[in-house]
Amino acid sequence: MNKSMPSGRTEAHRPIASPSSEVQTSMKANALTASGMDAPAAAEIMLDSFEQWMSEAGDYVVGKVRVALYDTDGRFVVCTHEDWTAPEELSRLAAIVSATGQRQTGQICTAEPLRSRNDDGLLAILVWSSIYGQDDPGSMQQGMFRSSVFHLRSILEARFDHVRMKEALYKQHAAETEATRREAMLEIGKRLHDQNDVSSVIRELLAYIETYTPYADFNLYLSQDFVNGDSRIKPLQMRGDPDDLYSRAFLEGVPQKDQLKSGSVRLAIPMSGKQAVYGVLGVSFSGRHWDESEFKAFTLIASTAGSAFENAKLYEQSNVLITELQMINELTKRLNQSLRLSEIFEFTMNELLHIFKADHCCVLQLNREKDVFQYVASNLPFLTKDMVPLDYGYAGIVHRTKEPVITSDYWNTRQVASKLMDETGSRSIIAAPIMDGASIVGVIIVTHKSPNFFSYDNYKLLQVLTTHIGLAISNASLHAEVRRMVITDNLTGLHARHYLNERIQSKQRKDPCGSLVVVDIDHFKQVNDTYGHLVGDQILIGVSDVIRSCIRESDIAARWGGEELAVYLPQIRSEQAYRIAERIRTRVEQGTHPSVTVSCGISEWTFEDDKISVESLFYKADMALYEAKNSGRNRIIVAS
Ligand code: GH3
Ligand code: MG
Ligand code: MG
Repeated sequence: MNKSMPSGRTEAHRPIASPSSEVQTSMKANALTASGMDAPAAAEIMLDSFEQWMSEAGDYVVGKVRVALYDTDGRFVVCTHEDWTAPEELSRLAAIVSATGQRQTGQICTAEPLRSRNDDGLLAILVWSSIYGQDDPGSMQQGMFRSSVFHLRSILEARFDHVRMKEALYKQHAAETEATRREAMLEIGKRLHDQNDVSSVIRELLAYIETYTPYADFNLYLSQDFVNGDSRIKPLQMRGDPDDLYSRAFLEGVPQKDQLKSGSVRLAIPMSGKQAVYGVLGVSFSGRHWDESEFKAFTLIASTAGSAFENAKLYEQSNVLITELQMINELTKRLNQSLRLSEIFEFTMNELLHIFKADHCCVLQLNREKDVFQYVASNLPFLTKDMVPLDYGYAGIVHRTKEPVITSDYWNTRQVASKLMDETGSRSIIAAPIMDGASIVGVIIVTHKSPNFFSYDNYKLLQVLTTHIGLAISNASLHAEVRRMVITDNLTGLHARHYLNERIQSKQRKDPCGSLVVVDIDHFKQVNDTYGHLVGDQILIGVSDVIRSCIRESDIAARWGGEELAVYLPQIRSEQAYRIAERIRTRVEQGTHPSVTVSCGISEWTFEDDKISVESLFYKADMALYEAKNSGRNRIIVAS
């Protein structure tokens, strides 16, 4: 007890003895003290308070009293005398006070609770021992000590209050900030999802960040080409460097954070939807402005923007698809309305100019006889009916590969020489094959003066459209073929009877005159009987060839029926018709093996006739033929 005491002011001493084992355990858990603060924070305040107390009232204390301060859970904090013995009794008493809240008097010291003024809580536990003994009540020193204990209590209370107030204010501020941010977040979430085009989503996102995080620098790195003039939007360059924050965020789809030594922080937050990652939001903060909550906030906003971006993109894509389908539908409908090839070519050319906003469009058709491509429709007059070799220019590439080709800048690539591109000064081109089954029947070319004018979507669309154009062309070709078959006689290759009738009828409406020659093989039954039907057929074909060789292209030869053939000679009078018939007669006689002869009847009509009809023309020719047969055959009679 009679230890020498330091005099005057003294330094407060941090823990002199290791705290009891229970205390150690609870300290490890970093438990909250009874004051509601975590233990180290409360100890810090107590220590500061104790130091202030010592500096202000130390004179009354040191030299007369030994004092130790414990926290409300009975953990030692600080004391005046380093060499104070019996710390076990001190901590034991402090623990009892902590548990009971009652003052405890031991053999060498007293432990008492320090309560706040309005007695609503324990601030700390004070353990003290007087040199005058434990039971020295009422002395002057005791009175002085009591008032200095009040002083300590005030200091503690003020400091605890101050810290609590600061904490409360901070919490309130944080709550307010959080509320504002949450509200803004809800608002921007709604706004982002309201946009149905990709550009607007990006615009809203950038505007939001600019408004709510004006102190941060940010850029948006997009994985796809996107041009809108905003310098904060950049293409995402994959350097393949695993240390590159942006690449990592993009590839792993996980937000990345990088804190530099300077304290500044860089974030790379992927902007992802359900199907893909579309870009990375890069944000950097100076150390002063960095707050951990930003990380969560930016992650949330980027994922909202990502799904809005995805929706807008899908919406845009489906709109493009719908427009394309409508176009295809319209084009096929219109194409199918026409069975004339020239109309189809012309219509196709005009439609494609419109659909692709192209400068020029050409349709080339494969000419199998001449083995060339022929320009059959184009908005370039100098190319009309032009023919090019099958391996020339872009049509040549398409012919070789049977695939469409797209060139974004002819001036740079010059894959092939092209008169079309050179003479029109075009730089962008798409060329696609028109297929009929597995074989190429033509090529469609669209061009534009600007480089990079056509997109990959344009290329795909032209490919789809040419499929339909190909179908329309093969339909029209089939139709033409069927028509040809219908008006042609199979055996002789001459026209069919109904076609001859139609043509004479139409000629009689326009022409001033015309003649009909009916040709009948003499004794043909005998030929058949003698040589057989096959030889008979050959004779019939031979006679037809003779007739074809004796007439002009504008004359119409037909098989009238059986072995009777007929030729209509437009704008020819009977005298001249006679000469033609005579030529036929002699050539048949000389040119057939076995040799046969023919008899001919000729009739004519002129605009002066009372009654003009196909029937009367035939009737008269038939009568003349009958006469020719009756008067010995192998001769020609002109109807009177
Ligand atoms: P005429 O000199 O009076 O005209 O005697 P014809 O035997 O030629 O006349 P007819 O009208 O009695 O007989 C016509 C014959 O022509 C009967 C028929 O067998 C034959 N014939 C008709 N069409 C064909 C055909 O496509 N092929 C063959 N081989 N014979 C045909
Ligand atoms: Mg006959
Ligand atoms: Mg006959």
